[in-house]
Amino acid sequence: MPEAFVSSQIVTPDAIRPGAVLVDNGRITGICEATAIPRFHRIVQCEGALLPGLVDSHIHINEPGRTEWEGFATATRAAAAGGYTTLIDMPLNCLPATTTVAALEAKRAAAEGQCLVDWAAWGGVSGHNTNDIEPLAKAGVRGFKCFLAEPGIDGFNRVDEAELRIAGPHLAHTGLPLLVHAELPEVLDRVAHDLTGADWRRYETWLRSRPDEAEVEAIRLMIRLCREYGFRLHIVHLVTAQALDDIRRAKEESLPITIETCPHYLHFASEQIPDGSTLHKCAPPIRSAENRNQLWAAVGEGLIDLIATDHSPCPEAMKCHDAGDFQAAWGGIASVSVALPVVWTGMRVRGLTLSDLVRLMSQRPAQLACLEGRKGQIAPGYDADFVIFDPDQAFTVQPETLHTRHNLSPYIGEHLFGTVKATYLRGNPVFNGNQFADLPEGREIPA
Ligand SMILES: [Zn+2]
Repeated sequence: MPEAFVSSQIVTPDAIRPGAVLVDNGRITGICEATAIPRFHRIVQCEGALLPGLVDSHIHINEPGRTEWEGFATATRAAAAGGYTTLIDMPLNCLPATTTVAALEAKRAAAEGQCLVDWAAWGGVSGHNTNDIEPLAKAGVRGFKCFLAEPGIDGFNRVDEAELRIAGPHLAHTGLPLLVHAELPEVLDRVAHDLTGADWRRYETWLRSRPDEAEVEAIRLMIRLCREYGFRLHIVHLVTAQALDDIRRAKEESLPITIETCPHYLHFASEQIPDGSTLHKCAPPIRSAENRNQLWAAVGEGLIDLIATDHSPCPEAMKCHDAGDFQAAWGGIASVSVALPVVWTGMRVRGLTLSDLVRLMSQRPAQLACLEGRKGQIAPGYDADFVIFDPDQAFTVQPETLHTRHNLSPYIGEHLFGTVKATYLRGNPVFNGNQFADLPEGREIPA
């Protein structure tokens, strides 16, 4: 039977209105007044705002190969609890990395029958796999990821300018975006020299080892290559506000560039991170409170297009928490189950609305992954993926509600606003506030 999801706040990128969202066979068929619901619809009364399911365009699921770090079952469970209904998986830290069609097929086999939410894959551009770019595009990846700096993990190599010049025309030909980890290794090597004998328990040392200039220079290089080859460029996890002027100029030039930042860069500030707190380690690093203010301004201005989690968990021992060693610890922050309230908590005090939130965390990430028309909006024809969200309910993050394989996160103990009351995938409930669906009905989104 078709359904009508009734809410006092249906959130679209343009408006927030009361009414009913009509659903048939997992698809949205229309939006109407609550008093005008056609006959023979089952009513679902939403206890909160009705948002499109969030789309995470930057997540490391790590399966196959490093399933002990996370995996499809646990990542999609944590995603459902966090209001995410679509995940686009990064081509590393899984093994094999998703740099060939065979590796993509291995990932598909690993995901089969495990997923609570939908997913798709990014391919990797990793040194010498230029000949795999177009076959991967045909096989269904949504775009490509590369690293300018060392990824710091076995199985994936960084690329330099010469390799990007070989890959550039192939990328442009696919029409798919190139997602870039933008830190320039030459700058990192230069400062590494000055850090001999530094105390790696200090957060300050980690911050000094990944300076703003590494991001700025990498972004300048990528803007030049984007202009030259015409591929779609997406800068992942922007942190430094010092790159914003270059980005603004590139956008004014109408280059096909999009920018992402992450919840941790909008929430934490380097001044507050205790020495030895390796749970806060990620690259590029969390920067100052002043930098964070400028990032928020860029979010408000629309210069930053989207917010993705860069959810990147690991087993506890790899965080080296006892030693507190920022050099030895794994760099990555797990956040997919709390990213929504983390970002919303920052937005509500800065005058941003739930419409801004769904644009940044659902619509734009879906557009990046060429999922427009299917994911990322409450509109006719789109999948009936929803999160029912109470924007005013406060809570404190507890380890047991992270729902990841390893309940480690710098957000534990943080006081946040906004709770996920329920998550629906193609019209079916997958999370009801404390329980998950029995059947894993998530699937790969077809190309
Ligand atoms: Zn990442």
